[in-house]
Amino acid sequence: MSKLVASPEPKSLETQSAPRPELVSYPAHDADLGGGITVVRVLPLRQHRLVGPWCFFDHYGPLSFNNRKAMDVAPHPHIGLQTVSWLFDGEILHNDSLGCTSMARPGELNLMTAGQAIAHAEETPARNSGKLHGLQLWVALPDRERQRAPSFDHYKDLPVLEPGGGRVHLFMGELAGQRSKARAFSPLVGAALKFEANAKMRLPLNPAWEHALVIIDGKISLDGKQLIPGALHYLGAHRSGIELSTKAPARAVLIGGAPFEEPIIIWWNFVARTAEEIQAAREDWEQHRRFGEVKAYRGARLKAPSFIARPIAGH
Ligand code: MN
Repeated sequence: MSKLVASPEPKSLETQSAPRPELVSYPAHDADLGGGITVVRVLPLRQHRLVGPWCFFDHYGPLSFNNRKAMDVAPHPHIGLQTVSWLFDGEILHNDSLGCTSMARPGELNLMTAGQAIAHAEETPARNSGKLHGLQLWVALPDRERQRAPSFDHYKDLPVLEPGGGRVHLFMGELAGQRSKARAFSPLVGAALKFEANAKMRLPLNPAWEHALVIIDGKISLDGKQLIPGALHYLGAHRSGIELSTKAPARAVLIGGAPFEEPIIIWWNFVARTAEEIQAAREDWEQHRRFGEVKAYRGARLKAPSFIARPIAGH
């Protein structure tokens, strides 16, 4: 873990006690998603669990392939979260236990709200571009919403900001006075940043929120410091804005939100509050209860791993 502290403000009696923004860079690690795909897992990390309500961040690709399914994640259950699927290239076919079927494509959002229970499968469709590059993110649902009925939404018409230096696709939440219409249950932001060469992009941030940046490709500097790829760059709170610069075209993702105050437990595909809830959800999946079946998927569903009472605790 490398700790990089942002340039100190001029010291005076007035600013010494004021909260300062931080910059801590945590290396991400590879994870096997099954079905032959390896991803870069940016969240959760042992040293860092949440950024606002964002509790999971996988980056996969870019992949090029012929005559094979690059992604084939068989039916599996979720509780207590929203899955946010965002593609830079290629396509993924989503099918779920509500009977929803949807093709995720670049620039469009697949948003699944698991609530009390849903199951879904994600796979490369038979007719495909031979390319795949994207993100799967999870948003933890707050306690008052996490037992809600499951739902699935596909959004095509999302805000595109032009702050200078490139374009920003705002897929979730709020940024720079714009708002994504994607259904959210906590104050948050999720945005894909695309930079031109020699860009200087300034983005206002909500200083009450915490934020993080993830480099997707290229080289990007924050306040003059280059951010390494394959890492979670945690920006902390107390920032009213950031300035990002590039020499060549590059891409990044900004996530953030109000600090999520509820302690959460993440185990397999479940976000919960207690080990008992996790065990009950696991048992319901194994016994074909609660979650329903993904009828549109051809093939066996995933089996839950053994539950070891040592789940990853939130915060
Ligand atoms: Mn899933």
